[in-house]
Amino acid sequence: MRALVYRGHKRVELENVPDADVPAPDGALVRTTSFAICGSDLHGYHGPVNEERIGATMGHEAIGEVVEVGSEVRTIRPGDHVAVSAVVGCGRCESCQGLLTARCPSTVGRVLNLGQAEAIAVPAADSSLLPIPEGVSDEQAVLLTDILPTGYKGVRGADIQPGGTVAVVGAGPVGQMALETTFLFGPSKVFAIDQVPYRLDEAERLGAIPIDASQVDPVEAVLDQTGGKGCQHVIEAAGPQATVRIAFGVLAHGGTLSQVGATADPEMTINLMALFGRDLTYRVGLVSPQYAWPELVPLLQEGKIHPERIFTHYLPMSDGPRGYEMFDNREDGVIKVMLDPTR
Ligand code: NAD
Ligand code: ZN
Repeated sequence: MRALVYRGHKRVELENVPDADVPAPDGALVRTTSFAICGSDLHGYHGPVNEERIGATMGHEAIGEVVEVGSEVRTIRPGDHVAVSAVVGCGRCESCQGLLTARCPSTVGRVLNLGQAEAIAVPAADSSLLPIPEGVSDEQAVLLTDILPTGYKGVRGADIQPGGTVAVVGAGPVGQMALETTFLFGPSKVFAIDQVPYRLDEAERLGAIPIDASQVDPVEAVLDQTGGKGCQHVIEAAGPQATVRIAFGVLAHGGTLSQVGATADPEMTINLMALFGRDLTYRVGLVSPQYAWPELVPLLQEGKIHPERIFTHYLPMSDGPRGYEMFDNREDGVIKVMLDPTR
């Protein structure tokens, strides 16, 4: 089968790889129908060469059709049209049963790094697959695999209160998902901080106040517009040291910072003693997409959120390498790239 394969620094290639295995007793074989490129795929793509991953399939944001299920699978059947959770667990432990897959202590509690291929052998199918509900489009289903739950995790973790002030640091795909769901909680002001003008324009269309970090000091700008206090609720949705600094900088005393941005930088530091006197709450972690599905699906079905607006580019899988290059360079107004595995 064809897959997008990691070959080194800024090198992703379309290659023939061995077919996805027949599923394990608790697994399913899914033939993909669409998948997207994530900011998390970029860490490996533009980072230093990771020898261990050379030859590995990229991606973890796929939807498709179930071709075959293992003997122990109870809720999923061949022919089901499904979204594949980006984070998979054993499906049986206390964390997985509570839908908090990211906390699964088993070795399979991890990001599914197999998504950008014609087929995927998905472990723990009952817990990892969402039969795509009526009223949810394919674009929305792809977003349910990872970044819509991730943005929403950021928002829920920031404990947004009606009338509260919010800052979302990073207005890439994940930041856009956080912005999309922030407004459900009735904030008085929402700042969006980024350095890519067209992404800030998109945030402004939703009702956010754009802050361009390439033009102004974002911390000063937010303090100026909040009477020197900063924001009570901050969502970090980018990951690098610079944006984590901005996130702590714009956070009000007594406020809550919820970080969903990730970094591959082992040198990342936070000065905890400098934060000690500010009485802050800090949350950080990997998403459990399953945990958010019961809340997000009705919001999509009722038309209360429209996250699919972020898909700016639709490409055949054979143009996947070009899709990576564009997304990484933020060319041509790109926010989110969808790939078609049949082409
Ligand atoms: P992205 O790289 O497209 O978005 C990051 C945004 O931050 C970009 O728009 C960029 O311009 C902005 N940014 C970067 N440095 C900045 C700076 N110094 N000042 C202002 N803005 C800056 O990627 P994405 O797909 O939106 O993903 C964002 C992060 O979320 C990534 O780190 C990804 O790994 C992470 N992620 C985490 C989870 C999770 O489970 N917690 C899930 C999915 C993605
Ligand atoms: Zn992702």
